[in-house]
Amino acid sequence: MRFFRAVAPAFILFSQCAWAQNPIRLQTRTFQPPRGETAIPPVARSGQPALRAHYILQFSANPGPEIRQELERRGVSVLAFVPDSALMVSSGPGANLGGLGAIWAGPLETPDKLSPRLAAAPPPAFLVEFYPDVDMGLARALAIQNGFAVVENRSLLPGHLVVKGDLNRLAELAANDEVSYILPASADMAAGADVAGCGGAETAAGPVADYATMGTGWAPDASGAVALQYFIESLPANLDAATAQAQIARAFSQWASYVNVSFTEGGSAASARTIAILTPSYAHGDAYPFDGPGGVLAHTFYPSPPNPEPLAGDMHFDASETWGVGVNTDLFSVALHEAGHALGMAHSSDPAAVMYPYYHVATGLNADDIAGIQSLYGAIAATPPVQPAAPTPTPTPTPANPPSGTDTTPPTLRVVSPSSTIVSTSSPAILVRGTATDNVGVTAVQWTTSTGSAGNATGTASWTLQAPLLVGTNVVMVRAFDAAGNSTWRTITVVRN
Ligand SMILES: [Zn+2]
Ligand SMILES: [Zn+2]
Repeated sequence: MRFFRAVAPAFILFSQCAWAQNPIRLQTRTFQPPRGETAIPPVARSGQPALRAHYILQFSANPGPEIRQELERRGVSVLAFVPDSALMVSSGPGANLGGLGAIWAGPLETPDKLSPRLAAAPPPAFLVEFYPDVDMGLARALAIQNGFAVVENRSLLPGHLVVKGDLNRLAELAANDEVSYILPASADMAAGADVAGCGGAETAAGPVADYATMGTGWAPDASGAVALQYFIESLPANLDAATAQAQIARAFSQWASYVNVSFTEGGSAASARTIAILTPSYAHGDAYPFDGPGGVLAHTFYPSPPNPEPLAGDMHFDASETWGVGVNTDLFSVALHEAGHALGMAHSSDPAAVMYPYYHVATGLNADDIAGIQSLYGAIAATPPVQPAAPTPTPTPTPANPPSGTDTTPPTLRVVSPSSTIVSTSSPAILVRGTATDNVGVTAVQWTTSTGSAGNATGTASWTLQAPLLVGTNVVMVRAFDAAGNSTWRTITVVRN
């Protein structure tokens, strides 16, 4: 307590200048909550006023270890980090937050717990994520009470449940305090197949959960580039070192081909802006012990900020896995996902994306991954083709005009206007404009809204559409199709006041 008083004044000073740069970044929206004297709000749960509940606690600057320890001492559990400077906590009513530098507390609202992708492309099943302190017996009961069938799967990450049921009842399930996020389940999860998950984008203040999204990534140098080093401390013992090293280099080169970021082998594990690569087993000195064969395969620390150096960017692979090349457990696919976290990428709700929380054998990034990394670092001047030359042979020659059905390259779809993926308006409709290109030709651009409207856009290579809006949140999905039936979609969340 004594040391704590010494910390608080520095926080208050820092908050004066740092506030404007510290939004809360969720998958659904980025927002600045109103600033005010904070107390844990009373929990409005009829008949059960004494239950613990989950809140985002916003600070004016990244809450350090002293703050987090003091929260725990006061009975407030820290569950996750929410970029840029907030924590997800659970607490009973009336916890004392005085002197901690917290400037706002509030629950995740129900719409913030529903991935925008659910409405855009109804999946075969739903992945329901519960906060890590929720009993999974209670989680199952809540799912069943709300009319969902549980798809039993022992290979899911802790806190995860796959359910099937009515899309329109998901909001009722999400309204329960215990639920943190609902996103589409991948087809293999819907079928109950064995899957392997990522331990997450970690920070010194806890993992970044799937309802949250990325921060700002590594700061560029004066020339606008981001130059990172990587240092290999240990590699999977069941592969020869040169093979393993080549797979990791190949993963870095995929990301580097879309943004102005370079990776050079060198430095030491203790250097700044250096990704240390380790392959430990079980407990290994950080707060996230590995779990033996299966389960969590790897985890990675986010860049600095929010993580301190030299931890920032470090990638840990579980030594208990049997690592492979092109087969499970494919080192390249896992390294590709983890390198995304090392660059500051959060998890994606797109089951086809490399950054989905569960791994799939991948040969490269998908459109969602590329859009994500380019939103952090900007696109490089000459965008490479969707399938860049990989250092490893990939026997998939693409003829200039393959017959319909054999092409697997999806169209490139851009939304030009509005320029943001989240907009608010008082107008009863929104005009959306964009472009679409494809190696075998774009055949259609279609749109749907989460509020029940749909149609064809006017034009293909250059297209426009006008979608009607209801008062509240409308998710507009635009989807471009090519002659071989591949498609790419984008969503825009429009809040009509
Ligand atoms: Zn991950
Ligand atoms: Zn670790």
